[in-house]
Amino acid sequence: MITLKEALKLSKEELNKFKEDLQAKIAANPELNAYIDVNNVGEGIPIAIKDNIQVKDWSVTSGSNILQGYIAPYNATVIEKMLNAGLSPFGRTNMDEFAMGSTTESSFYGKTLNPINAECVPGGSSGGSAAAVGAGLAIAALGSDTGGSIRQPAAFCGIVGMKPTYGRVSRYGLGAYASSLDQIGPMTQNVEDAAILYDIISGHDEKDSTSADMNDKVSDKLNPERKLRIAVLPKYIENASEDIKDAYAKAIEALKACGHEIVEHELMDAKFDISAYYITATAEATTNLARYDGIRYGNRVEGKNLEDTFIQTRSNGFGDEVKRRILLGNFVLSSGYYEAYYVKAQKTRHIIKDEYEKIFEDVDLILSPVAPTVANKFGELSNPMEMYLSDIYTISVNLAGLPALALPISKNADGMPVGLQLIAKAYNEQTLFDGAMSLEKEIAYKA
Ligand code: GLN
Repeated sequence: MITLKEALKLSKEELNKFKEDLQAKIAANPELNAYIDVNNVGEGIPIAIKDNIQVKDWSVTSGSNILQGYIAPYNATVIEKMLNAGLSPFGRTNMDEFAMGSTTESSFYGKTLNPINAECVPGGSSGGSAAAVGAGLAIAALGSDTGGSIRQPAAFCGIVGMKPTYGRVSRYGLGAYASSLDQIGPMTQNVEDAAILYDIISGHDEKDSTSADMNDKVSDKLNPERKLRIAVLPKYIENASEDIKDAYAKAIEALKACGHEIVEHELMDAKFDISAYYITATAEATTNLARYDGIRYGNRVEGKNLEDTFIQTRSNGFGDEVKRRILLGNFVLSSGYYEAYYVKAQKTRHIIKDEYEKIFEDVDLILSPVAPTVANKFGELSNPMEMYLSDIYTISVNLAGLPALALPISKNADGMPVGLQLIAKAYNEQTLFDGAMSLEKEIAYKA
């Protein structure tokens, strides 16, 4: 598959031919189920779009039954920015319903397969985007990351996935899961393409009140020769599988070979991250999902009266995992429990942020696992608590609002990709991409 950098140099004729071939290739691989639809609109370079980003006149459903029949009346800011840069939304990709999940098994459209091994999950929630890029069915894709949903599927499918600093990329037109954690980001074949796509979609947007008033770009200044100070976390990685530990050791050697300085640091037990994240995320999700009542958007199941219509619509429209989180979110926000759970989670969130800030007084980047294991088999994480625990290495980055990039490092004995992530200081995307590019060059991972 050509890279985004190469695609930017194609003539109009070459691009049209490429898009026809790509459509045929996608049609020939339906069992992967990476795309929900392919809508070849616009003249630009085709980019796959997660099904929770508004593209005008598309059916956009967040992988849910409740949004069947809804047609987006406007473009998300990231889509407007892409169109202005000569890129066009090409198809919408499969995802866990409302981005809640780590396997893409909870989609209304059925599961997506891992392109490297069809018995394994592609990761989630942006599993369709990761599988499309990993299978050579997309040049690049957009995903969204609330607690790892770009980085973890990228790691499971052997591609690059980047979560920007909170506020770098406009959330206008992104179907909200947890508004204080959500960011849209690039999922690509390599680090440079991620920088190019990040540059295109990032920048201040007055339509998003949490958007940072910053417009600096990274891709024309990429410098993999820069020498950096990078923290490794020996204790923090102890609970990861041997596959992950092996890749971690390999990455440390590669970083040293690049001339980076490696220093040891520690983060507190990730079990606190899980509690803080699942309380914060479900509380915000409960509020955000209240709008799906059968009156304003999508599917409606008529009831005996208005209240019954709400109940029937929501009971019928939401899947089990979404319902579980609505219940959990309402519980932690209810009077009597609010102080004990929600307020405590916010305090924990501050402690996590402070911890990172302290490490970043000493280093430029942190090297961390993305997930405790490689891609698991279908059905393996059927217990919700086990699935939540599999997010231990990604969610603290969202709680702290930091930028992070997952890239493939090695393959385990079964040929499954192992990805790791680099984490940077807030708004320090340049350092993140520079360091990631140096590691990518040294590792020379082959799909
Ligand atoms: N797996 C996490 C969750 O289910 C993260 C999802 C995401 O980043 N959207 O909440």
